[in-house]
Amino acid sequence: MSVIEIENLVKKYGDNLAVDNLNLKIEKGRVYGFLGPNGAGKSTTMNIITGYIGATSGTVKIDGRDIFKEPEQAKKCVGYLPEMPPLYQDMTVREYLKFVAELKKIPKCKREKNIEDALNMTKTDQVENRLIRNLSKGYKQRVGIAQALIGMPEVIILDEPTVGLDPKQIIEIRQLIKQLGKKHTVILSSHILSEISEVCDYIYIISRGCLVAAGSEKELVDQMAGKNVLEMEIKGNKDAVTAMMGTVSDVGKYEMTKSDKSDNVNLTIISDRENDVREKIFYACANSRLPILKMDFKHKTLEDLFIELTKDYAAPEKKKRRIGKSKAKKELQEDIDKEVEALNEISHKEENK
Ligand code: ADP
Ligand code: MG
Repeated sequence: MSVIEIENLVKKYGDNLAVDNLNLKIEKGRVYGFLGPNGAGKSTTMNIITGYIGATSGTVKIDGRDIFKEPEQAKKCVGYLPEMPPLYQDMTVREYLKFVAELKKIPKCKREKNIEDALNMTKTDQVENRLIRNLSKGYKQRVGIAQALIGMPEVIILDEPTVGLDPKQIIEIRQLIKQLGKKHTVILSSHILSEISEVCDYIYIISRGCLVAAGSEKELVDQMAGKNVLEMEIKGNKDAVTAMMGTVSDVGKYEMTKSDKSDNVNLTIISDRENDVREKIFYACANSRLPILKMDFKHKTLEDLFIELTKDYAAPEKKKRRIGKSKAKKELQEDIDKEVEALNEISHKEENK
């Protein structure tokens, strides 16, 4: 059974659809990544899963329990490091964890052991008596993770845990997350592909509140990226190029368009990763006496896929802004018109005096 099941989840902020009919499952024992650009809806989704905010519609079940109907029970299975963890700066690390254990209603007999374990796992035991305000940002983040671990919940949810850290701290926190993944189910959000692919077993790519792709890094690469793209410009007509392509086998899919500027043909060949067709095509063109004017070979990476999947993301915003601008322009023009009218009226009156 899945430890988390999200079905038809929708969250609206006024007219803004932050989460748009999201469906996904989290299986026990793996490290999951929510990957998406800023504003994709990652934090909103995490805030709903952890019971911080309500949803507009849809269901979230944690260990079979509905987060909206049985919040207390459901929340017990989840530890959360929000984007801005509520750390009490004037407490020591240990005092803070004790405070969190009380809030989470951990039975008294288990509290000490829980705090020890959280301190050890996050390596904050060396600073347990320091005031939180005096810790470095990396250590503060560790304390935030320790706080999520109190109660030793099955699922640990971390919202952009490396934002604002320096490169050394980033490496340390990623290491810590990998460690956590050995004992817990972890969900991690990030807008950085390399971070997600380094740490996570399974990736959900989210864009504009929708799930746009899911799979392990390898699956995503195999399914959608992982292709060779050969773009060529050939001197000749479509019939000649089609005939030439008939002389080669196993090259994958191809598309042809006529070049804008001349009678040449643009040929795009998409083949599997292992299949480098450049030589084959070169000799086929030579045998068919078709001069190659341009040849460009690209390897599609997961990065390309991520950019493609989230690329129209900014467009509606831009459009909105453009509408905003043209509206502003229109209003400005109306103001100017009114002013001119008023001036004309005045000068008219002056004339009539
Ligand atoms: P992410 O964490 O992926 O960057 P968020 O979940 O923070 O994305 O935001 C998703 C969308 O919801 C964005 O358009 C954001 O502006 C909007 N949003 C988030 N929180 C609020 C809020 N409290 N009130 C209004 N809009 C919000
Ligand atoms: Mg966020």
